[in-house]
Amino acid sequence: CGIVGAIGVNNPVDFVIAGLYRLEYRGYDSAGVSVLAPSATADVPATLRRVRKVGRVKELEDALPEGFEGVAAIGHTRWATHGPATENNAHPQVSSDERIHLVHNGIIDNAAILRTRLMDEGVRFSSDTDTEVIAQLVRQAFDRGSKTLEEATLAAVDQVTGTYAIAVLDREHPESMVVARQGSPLVLGVGEGTMYVASDVAALVAYTDRVIHLEDGELAVLTPNHLRAFTKETDDVGRTPELIEVTE
Ligand code: GLU
Repeated sequence: CGIVGAIGVNNPVDFVIAGLYRLEYRGYDSAGVSVLAPSATADVPATLRRVRKVGRVKELEDALPEGFEGVAAIGHTRWATHGPATENNAHPQVSSDERIHLVHNGIIDNAAILRTRLMDEGVRFSSDTDTEVIAQLVRQAFDRGSKTLEEATLAAVDQVTGTYAIAVLDREHPESMVVARQGSPLVLGVGEGTMYVASDVAALVAYTDRVIHLEDGELAVLTPNHLRAFTKETDDVGRTPELIEVTE
């Protein structure tokens, strides 16, 4: 029901938790957050860790371990549509190898068909959600030739029908976050050395007054100092931030 994410220098987990509190009014049954920490040396992979809780954002915040920090984070409050409100069904959802972490608002209409197809292809599912299907599709896209997270996410959303706002992190591409929107709101925020994303501008106003409302069919790749919005047809749709009045 609510999505927040950030990539950049200012501790993204703090922003995500604050943003989830801001979105509590929308209603939810569970909450979760993933954080991506790059490794100090090139031969050691980055790590993606997640914490999820049934219940309030406060319980999630209290459950975060010491040192739950990194360069990018995504968070979610869930209003269950596919599968009961359990910790297993809470977001972020992951690919089987936990390489891909993903949060999602909305409903994937062809989730059952895609799940059956993926299971036939040997993919093991760990939740009842429609969301996990997207995470598995992003992962599969890399095996089928996608080179970047933006390519893989585009290949995944190209196969789903329904509504979605998503934010995706990939352990193998720790330099960026990819988001996409179809039928569910998603707003990007441009900060100083940090890019933000949220399903509601309410989560952003304390951090930036420069926002971009992503449109249906658009995706965006975010790095700490840059963002590029694109579609299936156009590499760069040239979105520039608009200034909003910040009323705190
Ligand atoms: N359909 C997804 C689920 O049931 C997302 C629900 C939401 O928007 O919170 O997990």
